[in-house]
Amino acid sequence: MYKPQRILSENSKTDYSLNLPVFGHCIPTPLCLTHCYAKTGRICMKHSRKKQEWVSKYLLVQPYGLKDLILECRPLNNVRLCGSGDLLNGHVSGIKKLANECPDTMFWGMTRKTTIANRLNDFYNENIKLLVSVDHTSPDKTWYYEGALCFGPRMPEDTVLPDDDRIKVVFPYHVHGHVGKGVQTHKKDCKAVWHKISGCRECGRCWKW
Ligand code: SF4
Repeated sequence: MYKPQRILSENSKTDYSLNLPVFGHCIPTPLCLTHCYAKTGRICMKHSRKKQEWVSKYLLVQPYGLKDLILECRPLNNVRLCGSGDLLNGHVSGIKKLANECPDTMFWGMTRKTTIANRLNDFYNENIKLLVSVDHTSPDKTWYYEGALCFGPRMPEDTVLPDDDRIKVVFPYHVHGHVGKGVQTHKKDCKAVWHKISGCRECGRCWKW
């Protein structure tokens, strides 16, 4: 029976992340369908997708009360949720349990699903911070969400962004570590995308709101 050596995944930008499948999990915008970062590179290789499927089931079933994952997360300052893919409603109780059991760890990330953000950004779990991700093709109903947003990917044609206090971070379109040609800068840009900082450990803008 397959079980990954480590439940969390690692990368140089976010350090630790809980990666989930794209298929059956994401509700993509039209832009996601053509520019999803999780459809290229290492993150979409067969062994990565196998692990993502396993992680999703693990969060749904919660064997041994998520003990293995709790032990991995407890010593960490922060863990990125859905480094790939998106959360399901069935994951919510598992993520809340994780946050309760790891009070010194910040669980942060982005979702396209306002229902998930509403359920996880509550007063009882101050160490869960989920941004709702929007782009210029997002449906109107997503823009009705009253909580914190991130805008991305920002494409070259997005010359003007909404002046909206809910937007905490902007993610310029980038692929294989390079920002796309013609993408403009913005004062709320993720600095790691522009290689101005090494990663989230130097920043925390995605969860300090
Ligand atoms: S804005 Fe900061 S915390 Fe958010 S992804 Fe970029 S480096 Fe990480």
